[in-house]
Amino acid sequence: MSIIVFIEHLEGKLKKQSREIVSYASQLAEKASQKVVVVGVGDISREELETLSRFGVSKIIHCPNPGADILENQVYTRLLAEIFEKESGELLILANSFTGKALAPRLSVRLKAGLVTGVEALPKSLDPFVVKKKVFNGKAYAYEEILTSSKILSLNGNACEVIEKPVESAWEEYSPSDAASAPKAEVLDVNKIAAENLLTEASIVVSGGRGMKGPDKWKPIEELASLLNGATACSKPVSDEGWRPHEEHVGQTGKTIAPDLYFAVGISGAVQHIAGVSGSKTIVAINADKEAPIFEIADYGIIGDAHEVLPAFIQSVSKLD
Ligand SMILES: Cc1cc2nc3c(=O)[nH]c(=O)nc-3n(C[C@H](O)[C@H](O)[C@H](O)COP(=O)(O)OP(=O)(O)OC[C@H]3O[C@@H](n4cnc5c(N)ncnc54)[C@H](O)[C@@H]3O)c2cc1C
Repeated sequence: MSIIVFIEHLEGKLKKQSREIVSYASQLAEKASQKVVVVGVGDISREELETLSRFGVSKIIHCPNPGADILENQVYTRLLAEIFEKESGELLILANSFTGKALAPRLSVRLKAGLVTGVEALPKSLDPFVVKKKVFNGKAYAYEEILTSSKILSLNGNACEVIEKPVESAWEEYSPSDAASAPKAEVLDVNKIAAENLLTEASIVVSGGRGMKGPDKWKPIEELASLLNGATACSKPVSDEGWRPHEEHVGQTGKTIAPDLYFAVGISGAVQHIAGVSGSKTIVAINADKEAPIFEIADYGIIGDAHEVLPAFIQSVSKLD
């Protein structure tokens, strides 16, 4: 029996969460006496995939030609289902990303597998199989039991510590069956985001809200992000007003991110905003109102005018090596 892990990459580079989900699978495999099989699809090198051997992977399967040039959900679903069955999979793990959110429910139906999304930690118990997940926009946790023999988990960012366990991994190049690789839809156009640092991959994110007061006041946000080699983000009203592009909007209706460090500047901390950032390892809030809800979830809080605090903060950071 095996734990199958689907890893995502961006133009051939493993995504930040890949190591986390592989390490999660490996820690779980040790407890459940199972092996971990990682699946990488598309244009990614063997060298890049084999870096995952450091995390206790028994086998790496690379499928260079899934049957669709870019990620097509139906093709990927059939491919992963095929590999899950071929490898006698018991559990399939993927990221709770845009891709994971599209694939996990489809795979759940195809494999008749119980699915828990937004998983936050290693299972509480294996028999019964009980996992902890975020509910109510990250305001609470729930424990869910999966009753089926085949199971699927989609993991939130920072759900698990990355622990190295170097092993020799077997390698397999896989070609899907004709039935699996036949696309039923064609992607006609792809528009790539031009940002220097991709928001969902950034370790540090500097985010501004309506408290920044206007689009012409964004220089300190950009300056701090650039100084820390981070990405910029914003609250929904900011992008709705056209102060910032929509791809920067984080929250319930925007992107979900889980950076190591998140700066919330002039952001009140509404539940819909928190839904997209509560997976951050450390949150720093800068807000003029000491009663702002953002301080309830912030690890560090600075009460003050963002336009006074940020320049002073930037000056201090630029003095650091
Ligand atoms: C269905 C639904 C979905 C939603 N989805 C999202 C979502 O995905 N993401 C999202 O962000 N929101 C979302 N919202 C909106 C959400 O409810 C809040 O309205 C929004 O997050 C508030 O944005 P804000 O914090 O930038 O602005 P405000 O609530 O106006 O807060 C501005 C903050 O700035 C502070 N401030 C003011 N001046 C200064 C200053 N000079 N220096 C420092 N601080 C200052 C204020 O004290 C205040 O706390 C959604 C709402 C609904 C109903």
